[in-house]
Amino acid sequence: MLFILCIVSLLLSPAFLSPVQNDPLFKHIDDHSHEYIQRLKEWVAIESDSSDPSKRDQVEHMMQVTKDYILKIGGKVEMVELGDQEYSPGVKIPLPSVILAEFGNDKTKPTVCFYGHMDVQPAKKDDGWETDPYVLTEKDSKLFGRGTSDDKGQVLALLHAVESVMKFDLPVNVKLFIEGMEEVGSNGLEKIVEEKKDTFFSNVDYIVVTDTPWLSTKPGITYGARGNCYFFIEVEGARRDLHSGGFGGTVYEAMSDLVYLLGVLADVNGKILIPGIYDDVLPVTEQEKELYKDLIFDLKDMQRDSGVSKFLHSTKGDLLMHRWRFPSVSIHGIEGAFSGSGTKTVIPAKVIGKFSIRQVPKMKPSVVEKQVSNYLESKFAERKSPNKMKVTMVIGAQPWLANMSDPQYLAARNAVRRVFNVEADMIRAGGTIPIAKNFEDVLGKSVMLLGIGGPDDAPHGQNEKISMYNYIEGTKLYASFLQELASI
Ligand code: MN
Ligand code: MN
Repeated sequence: MLFILCIVSLLLSPAFLSPVQNDPLFKHIDDHSHEYIQRLKEWVAIESDSSDPSKRDQVEHMMQVTKDYILKIGGKVEMVELGDQEYSPGVKIPLPSVILAEFGNDKTKPTVCFYGHMDVQPAKKDDGWETDPYVLTEKDSKLFGRGTSDDKGQVLALLHAVESVMKFDLPVNVKLFIEGMEEVGSNGLEKIVEEKKDTFFSNVDYIVVTDTPWLSTKPGITYGARGNCYFFIEVEGARRDLHSGGFGGTVYEAMSDLVYLLGVLADVNGKILIPGIYDDVLPVTEQEKELYKDLIFDLKDMQRDSGVSKFLHSTKGDLLMHRWRFPSVSIHGIEGAFSGSGTKTVIPAKVIGKFSIRQVPKMKPSVVEKQVSNYLESKFAERKSPNKMKVTMVIGAQPWLANMSDPQYLAARNAVRRVFNVEADMIRAGGTIPIAKNFEDVLGKSVMLLGIGGPDDAPHGQNEKISMYNYIEGTKLYASFLQELASI
């Protein structure tokens, strides 16, 4: 018994504690975790749903609460007014203020600017939430509530990290750029970035977006995102909808043309059939392949979660590469087609097919637009249909790819090692992150996405959550990142 006690006390003595447990910065964060959760509770309770005009005052209130907290922990804040938003013709509602804040202004130190948002997606208990979405509820070491992961929890973790590091010494200048309209398209944000380029942003060395999940339980650093070229194919065959009893067998049907055109975009294995579409895709390097090896990603989990019986690719590397770094085409819908239940025998006069191509570096939207139009026009011409066909690209959002050897990436990887004792997953987003590309283009600065969300947080869905682990260890991650950045 005595022997066991000796062993236990030996293991608990400071010499045997891991460096993480010994770290006074981390101890400070652990000691305040209760307070951090309490603050998240207060912030989640504010219904800052930017999509609902009746809640716009709540979004502004959320921005003010955030401002007050930044002031309280020693930051300087400028609130930028964006004026009104024309919500619908003749109806104007105020846009929420944008926060520009800073901690420290020492020219000898590097300056990092973090971006995040305080607005949330809509949420109602009736949507199928198990708890009130605006009452933070702790269950199984998870914190449920709207905005816990997207993005109040992540911004708060960052603020708590700044506050904690300041208790010791803040070795970098920190700036914050926090908005309240992200979930509805970041109204007015590009304009501010342009306007503040030579003032607020002029001394910024690095930009970090704190609004992103990990791929697994291991921390992930996001270094790229796909773009999106969204197309409409409009086919018109008649002045009005026709009856298939009266016209079936007598007309060239618009819908048949459209279905044919949508059908020739890709083969059954997802390979895009548009000539030249793969020409500008960057080749996969050996170094890049290495990055995929240690990613924790289970195809079976993805199958279970999605209910898909077989994917287009059977290995982790192949599947993730096709999600992140190869282009894909998806067919989204047909406007004007009969889509109700029942058996309407209509021949639609005009139909608009909608599809998009997730394009990747170095594909250019303007080139993709030409390739798609040329291909569809030639395929349509082969059919010799007398109908009118028109292809338009309605969105041309650019892909984004960062340089992973930029100092902030090295600092983030060091921080992950320090807090979690693992190598960070280097990941990309299959979707589009316009803000990353915008920061890079307008400011010419290095951009990185360092979030702390979990892969199953359900950010826009019911029962959104962040785990206590991600929230508190994520706070340590941001805190370590600030320290590591100074020593790169
Ligand atoms: Mn978000
Ligand atoms: Mn979101």
